[in-house]
Amino acid sequence: FLCSSADFDFFYFVEQWSPSYCDTKQGCCYPITGRPNEDFGIHGLWPEYTTGEWREFCDRENSFNASQISDLIGRMQKDWPSLACPSGDGTIFWRHEWEKHGTCTSLDQHSYFEAALDLKKKANLLQVLENGGITPGKIYNFTTVKEAIQEGVGYRPVIKCNKDPANNTQLYEVYLCADTSAKNFIECPVFSHGIPCGSSIEFPSFSSDSELHVA
Ligand code: 5GP
Ligand code: 5GP
Ligand code: 5GP
Repeated sequence: FLCSSADFDFFYFVEQWSPSYCDTKQGCCYPITGRPNEDFGIHGLWPEYTTGEWREFCDRENSFNASQISDLIGRMQKDWPSLACPSGDGTIFWRHEWEKHGTCTSLDQHSYFEAALDLKKKANLLQVLENGGITPGKIYNFTTVKEAIQEGVGYRPVIKCNKDPANNTQLYEVYLCADTSAKNFIECPVFSHGIPCGSSIEFPSFSSDSELHVA
């Protein structure tokens, strides 16, 4: 049966800036454990082809099993919080990421989640930005932000933006690329920028009203 689940070229490692996930017209819901740290959170670790394509949901029988990552739960809650509504403990988000993307890798569940947590630690994005003089609550030049990440992590990121309720552009996600072992960052073999962010971007703090539950 020719359907090796290890068949891909590299990973996208995607982090979201939690305040920007919340600072939108739609708002967010904090996890049942409370507001996450003002930090990046993991969105996912996605296997990719250099053609720009990818596969999803590769093994319907390999469903998420929280007991396989019970030793990682503390790190998962801190570094991979789910901000979607309604509030939860993260399980729905982690299940989705495993079943959609994780099942298309050669990693087992524990290795997959641990690899993502370790990449977040290695990238250390919030510290890297702070080292570049970029701290939450202000507006920055787009190129300055991108170059601070490149300088600090050692690899060129792709930045995705979203809009706050006043329609200002803000830093939303940072894409980095990793090799197929998910242990080392690499320069991205393909580069789709998506929608340009514009020359300046907001790097927001959590605002007191950012938890706007959807009706
Ligand atoms: P969005 O439209 O929010 O960027 O992406 C929606 C979903 O589509 C993501 O959560 C992800 O599962 C999938 N997706 C979007 N772009 C990519 C990509 O470049 N690679 C992979 N593997 N999935 C993607
Ligand atoms: P994707 O398909 O884009 O990889 O995953 C996004 C899915 O995970 C959506 O169904 C979204 O509602 C859910 N989700 C739950 N929590 C979060 C979160 O904190 N951030 C993002 N981007 N998606 C989340
Ligand atoms: P270049 O490849 O010359 O850096 O950029 C080409 C276009 O993509 C420009 O419009 C630039 O603003 C945009 N761009 C460059 N890097 C990024 C990025 O990381 N994210 C987004 N969203 N756009 C980018």
